[in-house]
Amino acid sequence: QAKDAGRNAARFFNPAMQKTIESRLALETALRQALFKGELELFYQPQIDQNGRCFGAEALLRWRRPGHGLVAPLEFIPLAEETGLILPIGQWVMDTACAQIKAWEASERTRFLRMAVNVSARQFHQPDFVAQVQASLERYGANPQRLKLELTESVVLENAEQVVSRMNQLKALGVGFSMDDFGTGYSSLSYLKRLPLDQLKIDKSFIRDIATDPSDAAIVRAILAMSQSLGLEVVAEGIESEAQRRFLCENGCHRFQGYLLGRPKPIEEWETQPDLGADADRATSPASE
Ligand code: C2E
Ligand code: MG
Ligand code: MG
Ligand code: MG
Repeated sequence: QAKDAGRNAARFFNPAMQKTIESRLALETALRQALFKGELELFYQPQIDQNGRCFGAEALLRWRRPGHGLVAPLEFIPLAEETGLILPIGQWVMDTACAQIKAWEASERTRFLRMAVNVSARQFHQPDFVAQVQASLERYGANPQRLKLELTESVVLENAEQVVSRMNQLKALGVGFSMDDFGTGYSSLSYLKRLPLDQLKIDKSFIRDIATDPSDAAIVRAILAMSQSLGLEVVAEGIESEAQRRFLCENGCHRFQGYLLGRPKPIEEWETQPDLGADADRATSPASE
C-alpha cells in the first residue's frame, strides 16, 4: 500500500500544486514552440549621454504569446534557463541583434549606435560560446565594436579563470563587456580587478531612492569613484525622474537608461527616435569612449 503510494506520488498533490505543475508544463510547451513560431521579439531601450544624445540601445526580449499579450522576460527566462531553452533562444537573440547592428551601419544617422545584449550564465558557459558569437557577427557582417555583452555576477561566480579567458577571446574580436545589475550579486569586488570589463551598470535598486536616501546616494558615489579609478564606463539604469538624472550628472555619471529617457520599444519606433547623432565626432570614433 505504502509502496504504491510512493510510486504514485501525484495522488498526494493538492489541486493547487496540480495547477502550478500544469501551467508550468503549458508554459514550457508553449515556450518550446515560441521560437519557430516567430513569437519572440526584441525591444530596444535607448541609452542616452549627458547631452541627451542616444549612443546605443539595450536589446530586451519579449514574447508575443497568443492569448497572453506581450510577456516580459522575467516571466519566462528563469524557466528557459532551467530547461536549457535559453540556449536556442539566446542564439536567436544574438543573431537578431547582430542583424540589427548591420542594419544600423547602413545609415549615417545610426551607424555609431552600440547594441547591448544580455547573456545568461548558462549561455556563457557553453563550451562553444565564443565561436557562436563570432559566427553570429560573421553571418550578418556586423561590426564587433558595436556589440556589448551584458553579464551578471552569476556568470562569474564559477570558474573565473575560464570566464576571463573567454572574455579575452571575445575582446580580441572587438566585443565589449558590461557588468549588469552591479551591486546586487554575491561575489566579491575582487572580480572587478580580474575581469576585462569595459562598463558597469548600476542596478536600478540603488537608483530608485538616490535623491532622497543618503545610503543609496553614498553607495552610488562610491561606485562612480571606483569605476573612474578603474577606468570603467558607467551606465545608470532605471532612471525615472529628472531628480535622479541630475544627482547622477552632478556626481560624474554621464550615461543613462530608464523610462525618463525612453522605454524599450520595437524597432519600427526607432525610425522616429530623436537625438540620434548627426554629431560628426561620434560617427567617426564610435567605440573610442
Ligand atoms: P536588465 O538586463 O537589467 O534590463 C533592464 C530592465 O529594466 C528591463 O526589464 C527594462 O525594461 C527595465 N527598465 C528600464 N528602464 C526602467 C525604469 O526606468 N524603471 C524600471 N522600473 N525598469 C526599467 P525587462 O525588459 O523586463 O527585462 C528584465 C530582465 O530580463 C533583464 O534585466 C535581463 O536580465 C533579462 N533579459 C531581457 N532580455 C534578455 C535576453 O535577451 N537574454 C537574457 N539572457 N536575459 C534577458
Ligand atoms: Mg541588461
Ligand atoms: Mg540591469
Ligand atoms: Mg535587472
